[in-house]
Amino acid sequence: MKKGMFIGLALAAAVLMGYGPAQAKTQFVTIGTGGITGVYYPTGGAIAKMVNKKKKEYGIRATVESTGGSVFNINAVMSGDLEFGIAQSDRQFQAVKGMAEWKDKGPQADLRAVFSIHPESVTLVAAVDAGIKNIADLKGKKVNIGNPGSGQRQNAIDALDAVGINYEKDLKAESIKASEAASLLQDGRIDAFFYTVGHPSGSIKEATSGARKVLIADVTGSGIDGLLAKFPYYAKATIPASLYPGAQNDKDINTFGVKATLITSAKVSDDIVYAITKEVFDNFEAFKKLHPAYATLTKAQMLEGLSAPLHPGAVKYYKEVGLMK
Ligand code: GLU
Repeated sequence: MKKGMFIGLALAAAVLMGYGPAQAKTQFVTIGTGGITGVYYPTGGAIAKMVNKKKKEYGIRATVESTGGSVFNINAVMSGDLEFGIAQSDRQFQAVKGMAEWKDKGPQADLRAVFSIHPESVTLVAAVDAGIKNIADLKGKKVNIGNPGSGQRQNAIDALDAVGINYEKDLKAESIKASEAASLLQDGRIDAFFYTVGHPSGSIKEATSGARKVLIADVTGSGIDGLLAKFPYYAKATIPASLYPGAQNDKDINTFGVKATLITSAKVSDDIVYAITKEVFDNFEAFKKLHPAYATLTKAQMLEGLSAPLHPGAVKYYKEVGLMK
């Protein structure tokens, strides 16, 4: 509703200012991201930047919205409130199949994948004085597992379950947004927090550079091995300790992870999805420079980890350049 009104006003303004029909046709698209200290927010910005450079050619104006994360983004794209969203690959899988948060609503048949982006790892940040070195040490601690609407919340619950910790009974779970967790940890109001995020990320830098000594704990053990064997969307991951010089880690951190993916709806037009896909892939080296979390990305990898059907606008581009047959 609001957006419709805004577009209406923009059209009226364009006509009043004497612009021709090309400008009047501008289509506004919004990309749902995450907290501003995560990697989704700059990723949305990077994607928008690529397509906005060609605003005259495509008539598309992309903007970014900070949101509660993956689950929120999938739901907002399904309801038509957002045209695009960034979402964890595991959440994409669950939404398509009608699992987890989508168990009651059922399979999200209109969900479409565009491409995958950076790897994200389940990151457990803990205060050294709380004596937490591995996920198994979280019993009885005050731990932020993330807000409902985030992707990481279910990863934290899965990981805790896998090591025999019930998040409702065996620890004091907080449900706060990831963007607030770093300062809560530094203020001594929580002992640890989970964040499924790409690296390096602003939030983990913030958490590891305050007065309270902090480390990134391992998320490992036989229970975690069992979890990875059970769910196809989880894979082993390593966080390089060198990315966070402020953290009290002397070696790389072992955990597991997923992938960030760009999702949209079957209702979004092929032209828009094609334009976004083309601008990111045609200017791949420039795109990769926009965030250090994209350092090792390859074009072929960006077509992996997707469980929703690919949007036809993206398929058109992939076929044109030979990334798909
Ligand atoms: N993976 C997180 C989530 O879906 C967001 C991470 C980020 O914002 O970079 O909730």
